[in-house]
Amino acid sequence: KTLAEMREYLYKILVVGDLGTGKTSIIRRYVHNIFSSNYKSTIGVDFALKVIQWGPDLIVRLQLWDIAGQERFGNMTRVYYKEALGAIVVYDITRPQTFEGVTKWKKDIDTKVALPDAWGGGQIPVILLANKTDLIGEGHGQHANPTELDQFCNENGFLTWFETSAKDNSNIEEATRHLISAILKLE
Ligand code: GDP
Ligand code: MG
Repeated sequence: KTLAEMREYLYKILVVGDLGTGKTSIIRRYVHNIFSSNYKSTIGVDFALKVIQWGPDLIVRLQLWDIAGQERFGNMTRVYYKEALGAIVVYDITRPQTFEGVTKWKKDIDTKVALPDAWGGGQIPVILLANKTDLIGEGHGQHANPTELDQFCNENGFLTWFETSAKDNSNIEEATRHLISAILKLE
C-alpha cells in the first residue's frame, strides 16, 4: 500500500476498577508482556501506548489510561475520561466486593463521557474483565456464571465480559481486540 492508502486511528481507552484488581498488571502484560507480583499502586494516572497493525492498511494506536482506584467519583475522573472512545472495567474474582465497584465505575463513565457528536454521542463501548482467573486453580475465587454475567452485561450496558489473567496472559489480547472492533464499527 502507498502511504496515502494507510489509515491510522488513535483511540483513548480507559482502564478502571477498584484498587488492586489488576489494571496496571493487565496493561503491562498487554503492552510489554511482563508480569510482576509487586507493583506499586498507581498514583494519579499512567499512560501506555500500544500500536497495532490491524490490517494491511490500518494501524490502531491505543492509548491506555490507567487510572488509580482511589480517584473514583472524585472530580478528577471527568478530566481523565475526556475524549475516551472505549473503556475496560476490571474486577478481581478473588474479592467479590470489587464486583460491587463495577456498576459504580460504569455509571461514573456513562455520566462523564460520551462518544463524539459525529458518532452519535451515545455511551462509549465498555467491556468487563473478571481478572485473576489463575488463582482459581490455587483455590481462590471461582469461575463466573456465564448466564449471570451475560445478563449483568446486558442490563448494565457492557458489550461483553472476559475472564482474564495478567499473570498467565490469558484473554487480554482477545478482550482488547473485541473492544477495538466495536470502536472501529463506529468509524
Ligand atoms: P491495580 O491497582 O488495579 O492497578 O492492580 P495491580 O496491577 O497493581 O495488581 C494488584 C496486585 O494483584 C499485584 O500484586 C499484582 O501482581 C496482582 N495481580 C494482578 N493481576 C493478576 C492476575 O491476573 N493474577 C494474579 N495471581 N495476580 C494478579
Ligand atoms: Mg495500578
